[in-house]
Amino acid sequence: MSRTFSILKPDATRRNITGAVNAVIEAAGLRIVAQKRVHFTKAQAERFYGVHKERPFFGELVEQMTAAPVVVQVLEGENAVAKYREVLGATNPEQAAEGTVRKLFALSIGENTAHGSDSDENAAIEIAQFFSEAEIVG
Ligand code: UDP
Repeated sequence: MSRTFSILKPDATRRNITGAVNAVIEAAGLRIVAQKRVHFTKAQAERFYGVHKERPFFGELVEQMTAAPVVVQVLEGENAVAKYREVLGATNPEQAAEGTVRKLFALSIGENTAHGSDSDENAAIEIAQFFSEAEIVG
């Protein structure tokens, strides 16, 4: 068993489809072991996506991530990081496989409905930004 960190992005909360996304996550065998709704500040969004700060889309990404609340989650399962990346599909929804979260729900490459960590190391760092161990109930 391992863990990954997930964000249901503002385009998901705005359209009231967080339950529909969670249904896809759970159907794939991942367990939501922690979850809360938060509204990212600009500083939080800039920190979270700091690795992209030189990219041309950074300003728009920060704007989108702070436009409405998000749902931050810890997911648990076998190979959770890789499994959830598979469930999400490609960053660009036009390239995402059938049945994936982004194919089903994403509006654009920026408003692509959900985030999933890209490594076990980053999952641990991202989880620790939002949850204490006591809040994660497996
Ligand atoms: N993004 C964007 N334009 C791009 C690439 C990425 O707006 O050309 C946004 C998109 O919301 C994406 C996030 O930046 O989910 C982080 O990009 P990354 O390459 O890490 O993709 P992910 O790991 O989310 O699939």
